Amino acid sequence: MARRSKRSISTFLVSALGMLCMLKAFVWVLETKVLNTPIEIPFLNYGIMIAVALLLIRVSFVLLKHKARKSKVDVQEIGNGATTPNDIGTFHCADCGKKVSEKVRSYCLERPNKFNNQVFCYEHQR
Ligand SMILES: [Zn+2]
Repeated sequence: MARRSKRSISTFLVSALGMLCMLKAFVWVLETKVLNTPIEIPFLNYGIMIAVALLLIRVSFVLLKHKARKSKVDVQEIGNGATTPNDIGTFHCADCGKKVSEKVRSYCLERPNKFNNQVFCYEHQR
């Protein structure tokens, strides 16, 4: 849902910019080829500038958000790598590296608010 609205904003900005550019080109053709007199449409230039600025802001915002999300995922992957090795069935405490049982692991993962999606041994759960 959020993703869709984000895309639609970008799409709207791109199409608005495209429309303004087309309008600009149309006016330019009109004034150079047809009328041979300069046509001053200040709002058109302002509109293009505003659309470009909004698009740049939008793009940088999306990029920043994407970057932030990616680094978050990286951290999570590192965290998971430390707690859940390839060997399925053995799990280690994120603090001391001690082996913990499947039961302890699911206990920790069921409480992400308390353990931040990490697995801790009995000793380090407090
Ligand atoms: Zn521990």
